[in-house]
Amino acid sequence: MSVTPKGVALLGATGSIGTSALRVLARQPARFRAVAVTAHANRDALQTIATAVAPAYVGLVEGGDTLPADWGRGAGCLIEAATHPAVDIVINAVVGAAGLPATMAALRAGKRVALANKETLVVAGAIVTAMAAEHGAELVPVDSEHSAILQCLAGRRPEEVRRLVLTASGGPFRTWDASRIAAATRADALRHPTWQMGAKITIDSATLANKALEVIEAHHLFGVPYERIDVVVHPQSIIHSFVEFVDGSVLAQLGTPTMELPILYALTWPDRVPDAGVPSFDAVAWGGLTFESVRHDAFPMLALGIEAGRRGGAAPAVYNAANEVAVAAFLANRISFGDIPRRVAEALEELGGRAGDTLEQVLAADAAARAQVEAQVHAHAGS
Ligand code: NAD
Ligand code: MG
Repeated sequence: MSVTPKGVALLGATGSIGTSALRVLARQPARFRAVAVTAHANRDALQTIATAVAPAYVGLVEGGDTLPADWGRGAGCLIEAATHPAVDIVINAVVGAAGLPATMAALRAGKRVALANKETLVVAGAIVTAMAAEHGAELVPVDSEHSAILQCLAGRRPEEVRRLVLTASGGPFRTWDASRIAAATRADALRHPTWQMGAKITIDSATLANKALEVIEAHHLFGVPYERIDVVVHPQSIIHSFVEFVDGSVLAQLGTPTMELPILYALTWPDRVPDAGVPSFDAVAWGGLTFESVRHDAFPMLALGIEAGRRGGAAPAVYNAANEVAVAAFLANRISFGDIPRRVAEALEELGGRAGDTLEQVLAADAAARAQVEAQVHAHAGS
């Protein structure tokens, strides 16, 4: 192993993935050191992190003039952290399309990106993967399903792969009927059965939009066409995904539901290093793993998202942006749970045919979708 620890930039250090990543880094001081940390608006939490890890760079997006003089500020702080000379690996744990510019800047600077921010690949998957190839920069998934697939694929050639099967917990409404789901409250939707996560991805897990984002993410990361990516519901969240090979053999990756393992693997890939973070395997304790088909009628966001992925162009960016605005409106009690797919479907209908070959085009589509859903949310308020 290397003598000098690798420098890590942690974007979104105060979030759910950020907090898990800090625990992983604290257990691996000989290999990794947090040299840059950023957050959106939680100054006190970021100050606590900065005091604990003493990074070379600290940046807060929203904090105005009252920040310590040596802190970075504004959205540009994500880029400054991602391209800092002491940084070898960027953990992008920002939520939403706001994470895209930092992913691109890091890849352009030749850094490894350990990517939790799946929205990066949904909004601009082809652009981002081409940029990684052009700059010889590594893009390694943190998302548990994609980490599982990466681990199953180790050393295999693309033509040996028949199919990817992503597992989904099914979320809190797995067994609810469609009309009950449509009327679910914020508290219902935030009660995820197996994972503790930030609010946006928790709602995405309740609508199954998260799984659509992950199918698109898998398509871009592994270069597998949509017709060879499937989803199966697995309520226990122990099997993190499957890869089926052309001879019919199937590999799966298993583990206790913790993001610390995929975070560590994204840092060390293709190597594995000793770590005390995950309890030892107990097959008996994990007895009773079950699988179910997705109930597409009850969870329209999954098919809408996969269809946007297949359509290509700006459609995935429109889906993502519309979903971000609709989820924020739901979390603010401005729309119902059942309105989320309604608003997203309208946005795709209106804007899903736009071109998305260039960054300018996808960003314009993203902005148009945000404006359209915001206007619809406003128009339906109180109705
Ligand atoms: P979170 O809401 O808990 O944390 C988000 C972090 O990003 C915070 O540090 C916040 O300050 C920062 N942030 C938010 N908006 C920002 C902006 N506009 N500019 C800069 N920084 C901003 O979210 P999370 O659950 O940690 O998820 C982060 C990402 O990881 C998401 O893309 C999510 O889909 C993905 N992910 C999360 C999990 C999980 O277990 N939480 C699992 C897989 C993938
Ligand atoms: Mg996931």
